[in-house]
Amino acid sequence: MIRAALLAWYDDNARDLPWRRTRDPYAIWVAEVMLQQTRVETVIPYYARFLERFPTVDALAGAPLDEVLSCWSGLGYYRRARLLHRGAQHVAARASFPRDADAIREIPGVGRYTTGAIASQAFDLPAALVDGNVARVLARLFAIEDDVKKGAGLRRTWQLAEQLVAGPRPGALNNALMELGATVCVPREPRCTLCPVREACVARREGRERELPVASEKAARPRVREVAILLRVRGRDEHERVMVRRAPTGLFGGMWEPPRVVARDRHAARAEIEHALGVKITLDDARARKVSHVLTHRHLEVSVVRGVASRPPSAVRSEAWDAVAVVAPHELATRGVSTLARKLLG
Ligand code: SF4
Repeated sequence: MIRAALLAWYDDNARDLPWRRTRDPYAIWVAEVMLQQTRVETVIPYYARFLERFPTVDALAGAPLDEVLSCWSGLGYYRRARLLHRGAQHVAARASFPRDADAIREIPGVGRYTTGAIASQAFDLPAALVDGNVARVLARLFAIEDDVKKGAGLRRTWQLAEQLVAGPRPGALNNALMELGATVCVPREPRCTLCPVREACVARREGRERELPVASEKAARPRVREVAILLRVRGRDEHERVMVRRAPTGLFGGMWEPPRVVARDRHAARAEIEHALGVKITLDDARARKVSHVLTHRHLEVSVVRGVASRPPSAVRSEAWDAVAVVAPHELATRGVSTLARKLLG
């Protein structure tokens, strides 16, 4: 009854989203990666641009990482783009896109959730998926008392999702659960009167729909203080900036940005950056500009100061960076530049 009600409701109420109009596993994969931690409205234009630039898995696999990151610029969580690129190279090395859940799961960067999305939506396989929306719906519908983000609660949500997806139209069923969580069974004020499964919902029956899912304790986000130097080069165009590329692993990997380091003050930062870039730096006396940037696990507070390098740096000696360049403003569009870097550049 729950299954049929969800499917009928989905048929009448599904939002028309671009990735729902395709059965191409590559396009579905791109959408799912973009949708992790990013809102639907933000993803739509990026998705269209990305598929226009890299229309097939082979096109993505053959593109330089810099170009992929440039297309991803502004979407955040750049590790997703690096993994997608690596995953595309894995798929391109095969004769065709893998068509069963185990083989899909072997693609680098593809986890259990994305496997469920690709397998069910592209190939009609009964593969479950659980994201935040699905977990909330299931926690309420079946009154799961444990934290659905870990341990027994997490296992229970996957078990229930697997039971529900078994049957006809598994892709639509998965979408229905996600859509219900996104539009009706929303976090604070679930709209139960519009819900197709309200008769079966235990939380609703017990008047506990606002209590579930149980809140997990949030880890405090530590504040990290950094200094960034907006560096120009003596004797060159004053609009050009020295930019460094972050090493491929870790936060902002592969992205270009002004040099920034964790440092107690501007002088300590200057010394570290001088050493890393092998140039002398003269700092501007003006007051630092403050840039604040919140990430999932930390809160960056960056003091931005200006400086002049004695000559163009030609190499980097740093574990954090793997390349350096003096970049004109118009060249920024062709490089992967994060939202944080744009804030720093001002
Ligand atoms: S009845 Fe309310 S709480 Fe239960 S699944 Fe529907 S929207 Fe969520």
